[in-house]
Amino acid sequence: MKKGEERTFSTKSPDVEWDYVVIGSGMGGLTSATILSQLGKRVLVLEQHYEPGGFTHTFKRKRWRWDVGVHAVGEVHPKAILGRFLRKMSRGSLEWANLGKVYDEFYFPGLRIDFPDSLTQFRANLLEKFPEEEVAIDEYLRLVHVCSDKIRPYYLSRVLPEKFARLVDSTVTRQAQELLTKSTESVLAKITNSERLKTVLTAQWGYYGVEPARSSFAMHALVAKHFERGGFYPKGGSQKIAETLMSTIAAAGGWTRIRAEVEQIVIENGEVKGVDLKDGERIRAKRVVSAAGALATVNRLLPADEREKPWAQSIAKLKPSPCHLCLYIGFKGDIRKAGAGSANKWFYEVWGSDTMYWNVEDEASEAPVLYTSFPSLKDPEHDPGPEELHTGEVVTFVPYDVFAKWRDGRWQKRGKDYASIKKDIEDRMLAQFLKHMPELKDKVAYVELSTPLSTEHFTRAPVGAIYGIEPTPERYLTRHLRPRTPVKGLFLSGSDMASVGVMGAMIGGLLAAASAEPLGAVNYVREMVTGK
Ligand SMILES: Cc1cc2nc3c(=O)[nH]c(=O)nc-3n(C[C@H](O)[C@H](O)[C@H](O)COP(=O)(O)OP(=O)(O)OC[C@H]3O[C@@H](n4cnc5c(N)ncnc54)[C@H](O)[C@@H]3O)c2cc1C
Repeated sequence: MKKGEERTFSTKSPDVEWDYVVIGSGMGGLTSATILSQLGKRVLVLEQHYEPGGFTHTFKRKRWRWDVGVHAVGEVHPKAILGRFLRKMSRGSLEWANLGKVYDEFYFPGLRIDFPDSLTQFRANLLEKFPEEEVAIDEYLRLVHVCSDKIRPYYLSRVLPEKFARLVDSTVTRQAQELLTKSTESVLAKITNSERLKTVLTAQWGYYGVEPARSSFAMHALVAKHFERGGFYPKGGSQKIAETLMSTIAAAGGWTRIRAEVEQIVIENGEVKGVDLKDGERIRAKRVVSAAGALATVNRLLPADEREKPWAQSIAKLKPSPCHLCLYIGFKGDIRKAGAGSANKWFYEVWGSDTMYWNVEDEASEAPVLYTSFPSLKDPEHDPGPEELHTGEVVTFVPYDVFAKWRDGRWQKRGKDYASIKKDIEDRMLAQFLKHMPELKDKVAYVELSTPLSTEHFTRAPVGAIYGIEPTPERYLTRHLRPRTPVKGLFLSGSDMASVGVMGAMIGGLLAAASAEPLGAVNYVREMVTGK
């Protein structure tokens, strides 16, 4: 912390009575904590990591700083309702930089297509590449809109207790349920026979982490709609998200405590009593919001007898989303001149999106897709200095099994074999990236690879999952996957309660706060809408 900066978190917590304990300081946890604090509740956020923010935290090596899980966020423009929520929660102090007219560039073998910040332009770009597919393109765009409109009542229905779910799901949210439980592939198959158009329309599947054959069409449509007006990046870097929300929490009498790993949620006679930390300390609270991820909550944090109950079992059997590799690159020099920009670049080596996991054990293989991003060029507050220091991130998906045998080792001490496989992957990934952007080669000054074990170590995400529970139809058929649990005083928050991504986690955080304090939440939303 720099001199003069406001203190909003620490390794200790004030010795007061807490109304709420929130487990996890990711976007979901901080959203719940912010709203509950703004409603006058005393909230303590507990974070196991030494950096707050979950997937919105950043890390530094030498003179470069990278984000771990924020490349582009949609719907933060002034008119968007989600952007307004975020402004209220950050008390206007979180600002966003527009990624420009094009936020995602796609490079397929023999075809380049841009995803722009306007629906009209998007349609024009698609038509230019697929002139014979006008009917299909229009039908697709129509369905994306229908779907995202229908999903709102579904979200609201999550706030209700599970006992009303059957009734609500068969009436108010019936249409949403239908769309949530259809696969993306099955919907697209009815629209077009062009495999290439289908691949382009689903090319952003990496933003939700499940290939079209298994993803819920509603999730796909939500992500497509999310970016309809472009992509944005938090000014000052993604740590600004947590900084601004923790500031609101602290100003309202709450606190965020880091290096505080929750070992177990304390439940007595079906009621929450608080949490036990790994170091043995017990923190009492009548209400606990777990934003550590639904799988981590039911598999690790519930007492053994509660884990056996049907509600917990139905969540436990859902699958985590895939895991990823990320190459963090530090550059020196003018990377813009070498082809980098604020738009993300997706380099697809193959057509079709059914085999998107890199089989790294095949030494002759390449990653089927590389997602590339240059955070320092997105951030207007980044000062490159005289050496022109810039950052790059290259992401791809990989099976967890490859790394499973080293999972019990300690960070940076997993042994020679692990170091060797990491080095091999790092070299191959860098070579593949530079094949697409050769002019960057002499500007690469630092490289570090993260594996699924790094993700698991720093965020405790089970098997290093990138987006919590995978967004398949099965997930949306799980009635117990909702913020209010059958345990009195225990709520679930975060992206598993709504949809993937920073804004998905924010909605999950909002739904958890609304489930815990329904009346307060209504007033909160009214104040936001009316500005009073
Ligand atoms: C590589 C990558 C790229 C991404 N890119 C984007 C993007 O461009 N746009 C976008 O919108 N989203 C993106 N995402 C997804 C987005 O970052 C996440 O979906 C979202 O931030 C998840 O928020 P969350 O609060 O649900 O979970 P998390 O951020 O995972 O928060 C959970 C928190 O709980 C803590 N915790 C876990 N167990 C315990 C415990 N026992 N005790 C105390 N604390 C605990 C963890 O340390 C963590 O801080 C990306 C993610 C990754 C990994």
